[in-house]
Amino acid sequence: MRGRTPTSAPATAGEIFRLVREGTAGTRTEIGRATGLSRTAVAARVDRLLADGLVTEVQGAAATGGRPAARLEFHASGGAVLALSVGISRTKAAVCDLAGEVLAEDVLEQPASSGPETLLGAAVELLDKLLDGVDNPVVRGIGLSIPGTVDGGVGGSAGVPALPGWEGIELPPLLTTRFDVPVRVDNDVNVMALAEHAAHPEVDDLLMVKVSTGVGAGVVAGGVLQRGAWGAAGEIGHTPVHDGPGIGCGCGNVDCLEVLASGAALVRDLAAAGRDVNGIADVVALVKQGDPDAVRLVRTAGRRLGEVLAAAVNLVNPALVTIGGDLVGAYDPLVAGVREAIYRRSVAAATQDLRIEPGLLAGRSGVTGCAILVLDEVLAPSSVDAALSDQDE
Ligand SMILES: [Zn+2]
Repeated sequence: MRGRTPTSAPATAGEIFRLVREGTAGTRTEIGRATGLSRTAVAARVDRLLADGLVTEVQGAAATGGRPAARLEFHASGGAVLALSVGISRTKAAVCDLAGEVLAEDVLEQPASSGPETLLGAAVELLDKLLDGVDNPVVRGIGLSIPGTVDGGVGGSAGVPALPGWEGIELPPLLTTRFDVPVRVDNDVNVMALAEHAAHPEVDDLLMVKVSTGVGAGVVAGGVLQRGAWGAAGEIGHTPVHDGPGIGCGCGNVDCLEVLASGAALVRDLAAAGRDVNGIADVVALVKQGDPDAVRLVRTAGRRLGEVLAAAVNLVNPALVTIGGDLVGAYDPLVAGVREAIYRRSVAAATQDLRIEPGLLAGRSGVTGCAILVLDEVLAPSSVDAALSDQDE
């Protein structure tokens, strides 16, 4: 909603901020025209945004015969957001500017099984250290992702076998005791999908597939991330495939993707084949060396992933399937298998122009997505207005 009708309430500072951020209006005159506000009302609201640091003023080019009008621009350096991407085996932390650019980042080598209090306590210390090296350390929000379904009401894990000890724990309070700012929590693959969508603004319909220790997908349809009714959209890891060897899964099913095509499954199978593998990095290294068993097993994993994705492609008709996660280092055989199965099993109408590509943000989509998640909230007009009125109190 960009235009305003004369009967609507006067535009707030937050709404003016949106006009500036989206590039719809850049001068006070343009803001006045877009909002119908008087010059003094525009000036009062713009002054508050300037004082808060959300916008900045730059001298425009001289108009012929007149004084150059000062232009207002979104001030990406006017604060920071914190991003925490919790993984099963390690957590990535970053400080990002208000445009989502990573300013400082580090990795916390600590498994999620250490529990939310211990892990997020260590993460807060790491974030504090990262903030020391940033020019404008005013924190405006925190985006947090966890590897599992998120209970939106609690802001925590909805109970995922991969995260023992996290079920039902309210996570935002573990961060707000140090940083008193809004916290948003989402599933790890959902935030990666947000990041890939931002990196491909021309694509409205995409599937983001993450293959790391586990397997999951994020769905963007019609330009909007789809979380589903209970936050479980894209949980493809526990979909069984048709020609598996009959391996039982923790969920009670047999031959789920998670036990056949995940990084953990490949580590298990290559170790059984006599290779010295301790983690996904070893699987990737073997594939890069051309180890025939590793290449064959990764390709088979890709085919099984493709079998499940084919149904999703028929259902959603994405323009792009992007593949990320730790196993993306073994991209060639993985995606050869994915392609083979998708093209065999999906309808031609859904695959004729389908792109299947590695994620653009190799290794960074988790923290970038967490930043986008919280920026969507803290830079929304209503949040900007609420933050400005808090300062008045
Ligand atoms: Zn399962």
